[in-house]
Amino acid sequence: MITPNAHIAAMASYALADLSATGDDARPIVSLAQNESAFPASPLALEAARAALVDAPLYPDPDWTELRNALAKTYDVDAQNTLCGAGSMELIDCLMRCYAGPGDHVLSSEFGYAFFRTAAQAVGAGYDTAPELEMTVSVDRLLEVVHDRTRIVCVANPGNPTGTLISRQELVRLRDGLADDILLIIDEAYGEFSDALEERTFDLVARGNTVVLRTLSKAYGLAGMRVGWGVFPSDTAGEIRKVLNPNNISVASAAAARAAVLDQDYMRMVCVETAARRDRFAEQLRILGLTPPESHTNFVLIPFADASACVCADAALRTAGIVMRGMAGYGLPQCLRATIGTEEAMERAMECLAQWSEKEPGS
Ligand SMILES: *Cc1c(COP(=O)(O)O)cnc(C)c1O
Repeated sequence: MITPNAHIAAMASYALADLSATGDDARPIVSLAQNESAFPASPLALEAARAALVDAPLYPDPDWTELRNALAKTYDVDAQNTLCGAGSMELIDCLMRCYAGPGDHVLSSEFGYAFFRTAAQAVGAGYDTAPELEMTVSVDRLLEVVHDRTRIVCVANPGNPTGTLISRQELVRLRDGLADDILLIIDEAYGEFSDALEERTFDLVARGNTVVLRTLSKAYGLAGMRVGWGVFPSDTAGEIRKVLNPNNISVASAAAARAAVLDQDYMRMVCVETAARRDRFAEQLRILGLTPPESHTNFVLIPFADASACVCADAALRTAGIVMRGMAGYGLPQCLRATIGTEEAMERAMECLAQWSEKEPGS
């Protein structure tokens, strides 16, 4: 019988969202579990994807030339040092494969994005976490936990599943506090939602040993098309190229992504609307006595009194056809993460939580 590598056999399966719920024709099941956009992608992106299908028989451009040029122009980054992935998950995976291996350690914060752990373990590296303070990344704690086998430090900013943000200045302090032989990955999957609050961080890449990642999956509403990108120091970009699938992004996905990036007005509208809906929802949660951390993303983390209150609320929501994401896998069994969906979905979710909390005073 064949056996997998020992470090793979020791891994748990990647925890996908449990999407089971009870719906009916009048109240179809609504998924608020995967941080997908509540809005369709830009109409220009859909049109570009359709038009690109004439190129379906051809392999895609391995340099993503038009997409990279659009990213370079829009985000004011260097096209040469920008690489695109089949989602930013592919880029995280390649970074781990290039810079960590058995005996090495990867560090993230307590509630860091789950895929950091998966990608680290897949290359046989150890995975360490540093405590967060009030569900926010703490640079001091991260620097305390770094040790001589730490090769990579990963920070999602804003964080998933917390939604909280640390300042650019704090990221600079983190980079300054790390030795030059440690790679810092700054994952800004939700960066478009916080761009108005904090100065961008792409220039930190020039300090070396630092990578900034973004994605089309969240603010641009293209999660199903699988396009992520990042800015890399040129030496790092060269190494990543060796292991990156050279045909990673389909012609339709690349065309959709390019058109979406060039339609900044649409993306901004989505961010503004989503944030307004999010802040209203969080405010209503606070009126119910719940204490969501301040989110800078398209989701809200909802802490309940304890794990059993959370299980009851989740069951009540699912009976009403609403699926949120349980956070036990993140060490937060008392929390649900609610993606911001349509106005109607958020009203339904709130109605259900309000009814549930009346029945469970003190939860
Ligand atoms: C959603 C998400 C990603 C992104 O994934 P894609 O592979 O680009 O879809 C990366 N990092 C974080 C923190 C996320 O929440």
